[in-house]
Amino acid sequence: MENYPDSYYAQNIGTLKKPYDQLIDNHECDICVVGGGFSGLSTAIEAAKKGLKVIVIEQNLFGWGASGRNGGQIWNDVSWGIDVIEKKYGIKLARQIWDISQASVDLIDDRIREFGIECDKKNGGISAATSAVKLREYEENREYKIKTYNYNNLELLDKNSVDKEIGSSLYYGGVLDKGAGHLHPIKYALGLVKAAEKLNVKLYERSVVTKINQTSHAVEVLTDRGMVKAKKIAVCCNAYIKGLNLGIENRIMPCATYIVCTEPLSQNLQREILPNDYCVSDTNFDLNYYRLSDSKRMIFGGAVGYSLKIVEGLKKRTKRQLNKVYPNLSELKIDYIWGGLIALTMNRVPDIGMVNDKIYYAQGFSGHGVALTGIAGKILAENMVSEKTKELEAFEKIKHKNFPGGRLFRMPLLVTISSMQRMMDIFNV
Ligand SMILES: Cc1cc2nc3c(=O)[nH]c(=O)nc-3n(C[C@H](O)[C@H](O)[C@H](O)COP(=O)(O)OP(=O)(O)OC[C@H]3O[C@@H](n4cnc5c(N)ncnc54)[C@H](O)[C@@H]3O)c2cc1C
Repeated sequence: MENYPDSYYAQNIGTLKKPYDQLIDNHECDICVVGGGFSGLSTAIEAAKKGLKVIVIEQNLFGWGASGRNGGQIWNDVSWGIDVIEKKYGIKLARQIWDISQASVDLIDDRIREFGIECDKKNGGISAATSAVKLREYEENREYKIKTYNYNNLELLDKNSVDKEIGSSLYYGGVLDKGAGHLHPIKYALGLVKAAEKLNVKLYERSVVTKINQTSHAVEVLTDRGMVKAKKIAVCCNAYIKGLNLGIENRIMPCATYIVCTEPLSQNLQREILPNDYCVSDTNFDLNYYRLSDSKRMIFGGAVGYSLKIVEGLKKRTKRQLNKVYPNLSELKIDYIWGGLIALTMNRVPDIGMVNDKIYYAQGFSGHGVALTGIAGKILAENMVSEKTKELEAFEKIKHKNFPGGRLFRMPLLVTISSMQRMMDIFNV
């Protein structure tokens, strides 16, 4: 069982984290949630609000997975953009998913207000174009979002404005999304833990779920030292799922992404760089995503790797990317580097659904889950107490394919595709 990685976030939570018991002996409840990240905690909160007896089991510490390691960036939409859904499934379903994604962004603010979560939330995010072609795509996309989805939060930034807002001359222009934002992910996750506890959710950590048995009336969730008998369960393990044999694992590809965090910027640099405290993501295939922390450190993510073990190479690659965007930060010391796993689906749309009428799951946020995980949990909880909702039906209409080759060949395939995309980036295709 593992502690938090040595990230800036984990070093920065003070006394917010309190320990929870291991699961020992036998327990019973209405809903058992496996996985203590944003999705699992959200499911637990929503189910407890409905008066259900809920237990959450986390194998390490709450917020240990992607939820406690991410860039903290809050964006609506799905990873590859709503047009992917529109092209394949039509405008009606696309509008439904769009609305759900917008509700997921609002849900973060609602929860911060409702539970008094202090997580350094800031508003506004810039999508920055790394080529003239990409800028044109942004412009067209803005028009399309206004016309088709009535989304009016997008403001075009020309080269001058984007240079000023970001403090870098790398970009051709961009779009400011006033509905986007960023937060401190572990603080938010631990805020959700506290909220769940207030709602009488029973929380267990350092307890690996090793087996799930279904009987005619219940589901048994087993760990090495204990067992929970639940009427229904929600599996929210995302990229860290392993060996639970539910038939959902091959639909995702775990993939590592890395973040470097610098020492705090000097007062002078603070005036130049991200003066309005927006977060940024750019159009590189190895998407660079960055922002300032509350303590004015640069938190810069980007390099996608295929293992959490090859840190040195990725540290160099991420640092190279950072220097490319901000040559004036090249002398800054890197105080932290950490990685985490994201779960890609083939079409980059989350995979939210039911294995059967007792086992529900949410996974495959494809690196775009800070917001969507919240609504995923809400959808799971609602469906565990009612007839199928139209939100779950919407996600079920989107079909997810298995990655070919199973665990062994999924990775080489993605590496090949990624290398091709990276070359296209280099040549500005
Ligand atoms: C480095 C990084 C940067 C990212 N940046 C962004 C970003 O800026 N914006 C954005 O929108 N998204 C981002 N993401 C993606 C986002 O963090 C995820 O989509 C989201 O956190 C997924 O939440 P989750 O609860 O589904 O999964 P996780 O947070 O991974 O939680 C799953 C939990 O399940 C537990 N678990 C697994 N198996 C078991 C078991 N057998 N028994 C008990 N527990 C188990 C794990 O320990 C883990 O804690 C990033 C991800 C990473 C890794």
